[in-house]
Amino acid sequence: MTGPWLRPVLTELPQYTPAPGLYSGAAPIPLSANESLHEPLAGIGRAIAAAAGAVNRYPDPGCVRLTEAIARARGVDTGTVMVGAGSVALLQALFHAIAEPGAQVIHGWPSFELYPSLAALAGVTGVRVALRDGAFDLPAIAARITARTRMVLLCSPNNPTGGVISADALRAFLAQVPSRCLVVLDEAYHEYVRDPAACDGVRLLSQHPQLVVLRTFSKAYGLAGLRVGYLLGAPGVVSLLRKALTVYAVSTVAQAAAVAALGLQDQLLDRVAQTVGERERTRDGLLAAGYPVPGSQANFLWLPLKDRAADFGQWCRHRSIAVRVFPGEGVRVTVGSPSDNDALLSAAAHWRQAVE
Ligand SMILES: *Cc1c(COP(=O)(O)O)cnc(C)c1O
Repeated sequence: MTGPWLRPVLTELPQYTPAPGLYSGAAPIPLSANESLHEPLAGIGRAIAAAAGAVNRYPDPGCVRLTEAIARARGVDTGTVMVGAGSVALLQALFHAIAEPGAQVIHGWPSFELYPSLAALAGVTGVRVALRDGAFDLPAIAARITARTRMVLLCSPNNPTGGVISADALRAFLAQVPSRCLVVLDEAYHEYVRDPAACDGVRLLSQHPQLVVLRTFSKAYGLAGLRVGYLLGAPGVVSLLRKALTVYAVSTVAQAAAVAALGLQDQLLDRVAQTVGERERTRDGLLAAGYPVPGSQANFLWLPLKDRAADFGQWCRHRSIAVRVFPGEGVRVTVGSPSDNDALLSAAAHWRQAVE
């Protein structure tokens, strides 16, 4: 029996699989998905409850109130803001916007695992450029740009390694890239950055119409379960990109919660500061246990364990800790609560003893 014709890319694409046990009742300590460990603030819960009473109606397709709140919070005009159902939906719209036969996208590697999948689905050829010291190597990326390059994807801090692109390196890169090539800077973890030399894409937007910046409510703002993110870019680019988004994708509840979260930004950023403190404490503990952990500017740490990554992941799984394994490369662990991090440190110390 033959089924319907479907694009061969669907057979080849890896299935995105969450860490084992997360959604099947085993309830491991969740250190695999870089979520906020905190439950929503009471004010956000109230906004969600109030919005739930209006779900018989379609959401505002223009996300007007949220767009205004984002523009105010980031100090930009509303015409530069585009809201999407998570930054992944915005990335998908960007791929739709550049996918012509022969189009190429360049990104660093290892990086966000969805970049290659989104490229393949869009029929865009992905070009991977090795990282340098855990961050994107912009001179090496610039050297790979050709007439077919339609988009460069930059991730800072980089998931999964935690390194950042410096403001100087980004400025030099933008001066070099042909203006017809879109440069996308994914700053999903921007709020966790403490390195004063790190780039801040929003500051460069006004001088660089080819640049778009992605931010999300999924990490520091603690709304991963509601799916809302945003893109900032030149108004002429944004007004075209909006047409590549699925209409009504951002729910009424998500829009209301994100508006409330921006109103409670100071409290949320206090929580981020706690996580940054735990990041440094956990890294110190791992270094003391003999792990070569690079500095991270995000809410996770990277253990470059190479061919022992899968074994370490299995070890954590047996101790009911969910981590993200990149087979052959390393393990990414999200910074959790102090007791979650202590559990990880204990598992990590015991693993060293067991394998040595
Ligand atoms: C978590 C993450 C996102 C956020 O995706 P959402 O769709 O907004 O939840 C985007 N980019 C990177 C690199 C991430 O790690």
